[in-house]
Amino acid sequence: MPDNCIFCKIIAGEIPGNFVYQDDEIVVVEDIAPQAPHHYLLLPKKHIPTTLDLDLEDRELVGHIHRVAARIARDKGFADEGFRIVNNCNEGGGQVVWHLHFHLLGGRRMGWPPG
Ligand code: C5P
Repeated sequence: MPDNCIFCKIIAGEIPGNFVYQDDEIVVVEDIAPQAPHHYLLLPKKHIPTTLDLDLEDRELVGHIHRVAARIARDKGFADEGFRIVNNCNEGGGQVVWHLHFHLLGGRRMGWPPG
């Protein structure tokens, strides 16, 4: 794992995170600066910097992340009202942490287009 990756450190338990789910492939934590009543980060345990770095072998991982996001939305009770899954890629896309992650946002009405 890269020395300076904050999400690798959360995954390793070296810095605190509020875990809501984990398995062999991914962890899900509450975002420390929530942008909606429900705001979770789905993190692969494997260090992948951005969406641009996904390999063919990561296909199942990305599908798994989306299935877990849907399960969390159902379990937390905001699936039916609607939710959003967001991946920010590179600086212009709003990415600030260089470890692939997907935001799961719910519990309020979402606007479009996003900022
Ligand atoms: O997609 P982007 O890289 O902009 O998102 C990073 C997210 O990680 C932010 O929503 C930020 O609040 C969150 N974060 C966190 N815990 C940290 C550092 C960042 O939840 N220790």
